[in-house]
Amino acid sequence: MPHTSDFLGDVNRSFTKAARLTKHPKGLLEQICMCNSVYAMEFPLVRDDGSIRVIQAFRAEHSHHKQPSKGGIRYAPTVSKDEVVALAALMSYKCAVVNVPFSGAKGGVKINRNNFSNSELERITRRYTFELVRKNFIGPGIDVPAPDYGTGAREMAWVFDTYNQLSHNPLDAAACVTGKPVGQGGVHGRREATGRGVFFGIREACHNKKAMKKLGLDIGLEGKRVIVQGLGNVGFHAAYYLQEAGARIVGIAEMNGALVSKDGLDVRDVGIWRRERGTIEGYPKGRLVQPSSQALEMDCDILIPAALEGQISSENAERVQARIIAEAANGPTTSEADEILRKRNVLLLPDLYLNAGGVTVSYFEWLRNLSHVRFGRMSKRFESNTQQKILAAIETATGKSLAPDVLATIGKGADEIDIVNSGLEETMVFAYNEIYEIAQQKKTDLRTAAFVSAIDKIAVLYNEMGIFP
Ligand code: GLU
Repeated sequence: MPHTSDFLGDVNRSFTKAARLTKHPKGLLEQICMCNSVYAMEFPLVRDDGSIRVIQAFRAEHSHHKQPSKGGIRYAPTVSKDEVVALAALMSYKCAVVNVPFSGAKGGVKINRNNFSNSELERITRRYTFELVRKNFIGPGIDVPAPDYGTGAREMAWVFDTYNQLSHNPLDAAACVTGKPVGQGGVHGRREATGRGVFFGIREACHNKKAMKKLGLDIGLEGKRVIVQGLGNVGFHAAYYLQEAGARIVGIAEMNGALVSKDGLDVRDVGIWRRERGTIEGYPKGRLVQPSSQALEMDCDILIPAALEGQISSENAERVQARIIAEAANGPTTSEADEILRKRNVLLLPDLYLNAGGVTVSYFEWLRNLSHVRFGRMSKRFESNTQQKILAAIETATGKSLAPDVLATIGKGADEIDIVNSGLEETMVFAYNEIYEIAQQKKTDLRTAAFVSAIDKIAVLYNEMGIFP
C-alpha cells in the first residue's frame, strides 16, 4: 500500500539540497521550484445505475519555461493537489535532465479505476478533457497529457477524440496528447518506452566500473538478482528487458502478494498469467509471500519500485537489502529513506532520470504528430538500397557470400521502432553520463546531481529570456 508521505516536501527538499550546489540567485531558484498554475475541478458523473457521483480531479502546470508543458494523467485514489503538484515538478526536472524541450505538468483523477465500468471511465475521461479545453489547459503548444498510473492508450484515445471535436485546429490536434494507440497517431515503442528507458539506465549504471566496485558487485547485468514492485506497464517492461539481458527476476510484488523464486521467474509467463486472471496469485512456478511489502526487504542486487510514491520510507529503509534501487516509479523513496540508504552505501538511480524514457518517446510522438510523417518513411528505402549495394560490393571484393541473416539485418533500412529505440537509448546513455559527471564533480549522489543538471538547464533559459538579468 502507498505510504502516506510528504511527497511534495520530499521533492522540494531534494531541490533545495541541489540548489545549494549551484550559484543561481534566490529569486530565480524560487521561480524554478514553484508551481505556476493548478486547476482543481469537480464534476458530476452519471453512473451506469443512474446515480450521480462527484469526481475530483486536477491538472498542474509546474512551469512554462518551454512550451508545451508535459506530463501524464493518473487515475488513483491517492490523487491530491499536492501529489499532482509534486509530480508536475518532477516532470519539469525530468524533461530538463534528458534534454526534452518541455516544461512539466501532471494531471490526476481521484478514483480507483477498478470501481468503474469502461463506459464510466470513458465519460470521466471525456469530461476531464472538456474541463481542460475550457480552461486552456490542453493543446499541442500548451499542455500535452500522456498515460500515467492507472491510464493507458485507450484513455489517451478518448482525450484525443474529445479535444479533436472541440478544436479549431484539427491539423495538429493529434499532438494534444501522447501515448495514443498507433492507429490514432501514436508512435511505435511508446508503450514499452518507460520500462525500456529504465533498463537502459540500469544497464549504464551496472557497466560503470567505479560504481560497481564501490558496491562490491560484478560489472554487467548477467546474473544480477532483481526484485520488481508493480507489474504494470513500466515494471513489466523493465523486468522483461533486464531478463533478456541476463538478469534473474527473483521477485515480483503486486498489491495482494509477492511472487518469489530463487531460480528466477519468467516475466512474460507471469505477465500472461496476471493478464488472464487479474492477479499473480496461484502462479505455480513461484512462492507467494504476503504482505507484498516483504519483497522490498528481500535479498537481491537490484530493487525496482515501479508502483507509487513513498514505498521506501524511514520505516523499512534500514532493512532493504538491495545494493541498487532503481526508481522506475515517481518518488518511491522518501527523503528520510534516501538519507538512510546513502549512508548504507546503496546506489539510488533517481526517478527524474531513470523513468524519463516515457516522456522522451512522448516527445518523439509529438514530433511525429506535428510533422505528419512516420519516422523512417522518407529514408528507409534509400538506406536499405545503399546498404545492400555496400554488402554486394563486399561480397564481390572478398569473393565470399555473406550469411543470409547478416544480409537481412544489415541490409535493411530503419523502421519507426528502430529509430524510436535508438533515440531513446541515446537519450538515456547521454543523460546518465551527464549526471554521473556532475555527481563526480560535486562529490554528491545521482539524485542531487540530476537536480543540479535540471536547475542549471532551466536557469539558463530564464537568463536567456532576460527575466533574471
Ligand atoms: N507519466 C509519465 C511520466 O511520469 C510520462 C509522461 C509523458 O509522457 O508526458 O514520466
